[in-house]
Amino acid sequence: MALIVQKYGGTSVNDDERIKIVAEYIALTKSKGNDVVVVVSAMGKQTDQLIRLANDVSTVHPGREMDMLLTAGERISMSLLCMALSELNVQAASFTGSQAGIITDTVHTKASILEIKPDRILKALNDGFVPVVAGFQGMSVEKEITTLGRGGSDTTAVALATALQADVCEIYTDVSGVFTADPRIVPNARKLTALDYDEMLEIAANGGKVLALRSVEFARRHNVSIHVRSSYTWEPGTWIKKEEKDMEEALVSAVTHDISEAKITATKVPDKPGIAASLFRKLADKSINVDMIVQNTSVEGNTDISFTVPKTDLETALNVTREVLPQLGGTEVLADSDVAKVSIIGAGMKTQPGVTALTFETLAGCDINIEMISTSPIRISCLIRKEAVEQAVLALHAAFNLEATG
Ligand code: ADP
Ligand code: ASP
Ligand code: MG
Repeated sequence: MALIVQKYGGTSVNDDERIKIVAEYIALTKSKGNDVVVVVSAMGKQTDQLIRLANDVSTVHPGREMDMLLTAGERISMSLLCMALSELNVQAASFTGSQAGIITDTVHTKASILEIKPDRILKALNDGFVPVVAGFQGMSVEKEITTLGRGGSDTTAVALATALQADVCEIYTDVSGVFTADPRIVPNARKLTALDYDEMLEIAANGGKVLALRSVEFARRHNVSIHVRSSYTWEPGTWIKKEEKDMEEALVSAVTHDISEAKITATKVPDKPGIAASLFRKLADKSINVDMIVQNTSVEGNTDISFTVPKTDLETALNVTREVLPQLGGTEVLADSDVAKVSIIGAGMKTQPGVTALTFETLAGCDINIEMISTSPIRISCLIRKEAVEQAVLALHAAFNLEATG
């Protein structure tokens, strides 16, 4: 008998039929003698619809009210799933994030989990219930309702698995695991059997949205094994776990792409100490994650600084940059949303030269210009024009021989 945390994403609980199918699988898991804790996302694209509604009624979106609005989606799916379980004679009880004891910081719309007090979940388990927890939400230390950032139900699942010392955290989604590239762009992408935390972190941080970045960070910190798998075929998927000696260190494991960032350029700022520091401090104070950064060679003591930020933070980042620019002595602030980042990820590249060269040659072969570059020991990322992104992913996937064979 095991304690299993099962998380079901939006597509998995898209409609009444899907909710009934998921309930049957939970009942089956329970009938095998396992304890099951379920985490659900909002049905289908409901979170997007709620955001659209917010845009329709106002241009002003206070974080507190957005969180109140968006947490409603998960409330619907959790209660419907409990009803579907009752129909199968499985005792189930739904819990909001706050009832499940998920305590976060006070950063509305992208809160971090600080602590979990799972007393009510443990009691429900002891009483023989299947607790069904609303993903993506918590309660702040100031007792306000918060959300954990898009895709945050994965984080809820991993955090609960940690607090409950679950044997495994299963993430059920609409693909059968983590692939060498997004299977929606590369039809012959190969499913990976296992990945270590570092590689999965890079995949999640660079557009491979199959797992939310925070969930992987949490899993690595607490050594939780994650099994990403399909709620359509239920076949074995991809294991994310601590690196083992026998785990294959592929030269390249995956190609990812990310169209969620925009580029900002501050032109003709003085090339002297402290300029970048003041700009990036102000951005950090607004909780904006800056990703890639490039500073041009200086011409007559001036330089251009370009950097990328999430599109969702573009407006705030532009305002901050425009505010500080006169103090810095800069000229102009430019924004560009038509960019995409392609990345090559693999633990094996630490020790093998040539990956960078082949990446650049492949993009050059497609006549794709590289606007920015960033690297880590196991990743190379290039910023390119958005319209070239599919071509770039397909070409890089082929160049590194990642496709499924047979
Ligand atoms: P859920 O709603 O279940 O949380 P998501 O849409 O967040 O599902 O994540 C699953 C999607 O992630 C897939 O449908 C797929 O298009 C996308 N994806 C991107 N990169 C990858 C990858 N390397 N492997 C698998 N899926 C990927
Ligand atoms: N419903 C939320 C979202 O769409 C959280 C999640 O699905 O993980 O981002
Ligand atoms: Mg997701």
